[in-house]
Amino acid sequence: MALIVHKYGGTSMGSPERIRNVARRVAKWHHAGHQMVVVPSAMSGETNRLLGLAKELAPHGSGNAHDRELDMLAATGEQASSALLALALQAEGLAAVSFTGWQVPIRTNSAHTKARIESIDDARVRAELDAGKVVIVTGFQGIDPNSNITTLGRGGSDTSAVAVAAALKAAECMIFTDVDGVYTTDPRVVPEARRLLRISFEEMLEMASLGSKVLQIRSVEFAGKYKVPLRVLSSFTPPDIDLVLEAASGTLITFEEDEDMERAVVSGIAFNRDEAKLSVLGVPDTPGIAYQILGAVAEANVEVDVILQNSGRDGKTDFSFTVQQGDYQKTLDLLTKVVAPKLGAEEVTGDPRICKVSIVGIGMRSHVGVASRMFKCLSDEAINIQMISTSEIKTSVVIDEKYMELAVRALHREFDLDQPADTISQ
Ligand code: ASP
Ligand code: MG
Repeated sequence: MALIVHKYGGTSMGSPERIRNVARRVAKWHHAGHQMVVVPSAMSGETNRLLGLAKELAPHGSGNAHDRELDMLAATGEQASSALLALALQAEGLAAVSFTGWQVPIRTNSAHTKARIESIDDARVRAELDAGKVVIVTGFQGIDPNSNITTLGRGGSDTSAVAVAAALKAAECMIFTDVDGVYTTDPRVVPEARRLLRISFEEMLEMASLGSKVLQIRSVEFAGKYKVPLRVLSSFTPPDIDLVLEAASGTLITFEEDEDMERAVVSGIAFNRDEAKLSVLGVPDTPGIAYQILGAVAEANVEVDVILQNSGRDGKTDFSFTVQQGDYQKTLDLLTKVVAPKLGAEEVTGDPRICKVSIVGIGMRSHVGVASRMFKCLSDEAINIQMISTSEIKTSVVIDEKYMELAVRALHREFDLDQPADTISQ
């Protein structure tokens, strides 16, 4: 008998029929002797609907008082779906009870609409489990030190589930969702993309931060930090599917590089269209130039990703970096109106039509020449690389957006990702 946490996304909770299927699936696990905690999202579309109503009434709303009410409002979506699931479980003949974030309680800081979990009191949940009940805990929400309801940011139920699993030292946190696992890349771009049986937390973190949106990134960070075994699997299989089969399905995100880890050099290809490039040309090549440019950008609350400084010539240099698409215009204005005149820069240019493509794999630690294989592959496709950035387990390139799909497909082939891992020669 194990303590297992199931998390169901909005699509899985999308209608009474689907909630009944969730109840049947949970009941199957309960009948097999496991202690079950379930963390549901709001029914699909509900969070958007609620936030849309808020927008109608306060189109220009902002600030703490406004955000507090958004949290009051949005948290009701999960309260409703949790109660519905408890009712459905009771209708299946199980004892079930649901708790909101504040009833558990799940304590967070006070950053409304993007709060962080600080601690979870497990006593109440444990007592109900010991009494033989299935316990449902609302996703997405908590309570701050002043008893205000908070929410964890969009997609935050993933993080709730992992945090609850960590607090209860669950054997596994199973994230049931509308995809059947984590893929080598987006199957919409590369139809040959394969589901990974396992992926390490570090790789998953890179994949998630690079725009592969299977899990909220904070949930992966949390799982890595607290060593919660995490599995992503499909909620579209029949609810009465064999439990042993189900327990081994999807993708397991592991925290150790264990022996049967798939041994590919590159585990996946991630891409992100949501970036834009800015360049400040002809700035004096003197100490402090990077700080003067990026310091001003950071002060405007813009996050910078890839950075490139050319080697200087005739006392001048060029400086380029990427930002999120949404920050592009603001950053361009800042550079043109404030930074460039102050530094005596010759020109500011920008290009919103770029994308970042990355290869990710812990195998890169022990294999040399992986990056150059990537560059050769792109050059064979006549794709020009504008910027490069690397970390221990990742190499990213910035290229023209119109070559994105071509690049991803070519790299997927180059690193044999369409082959089952065990047929890959080392
Ligand atoms: N219901 C919330 C959202 O749509 C949280 C979640 O589903 O994870 O963002
Ligand atoms: Mg989600």
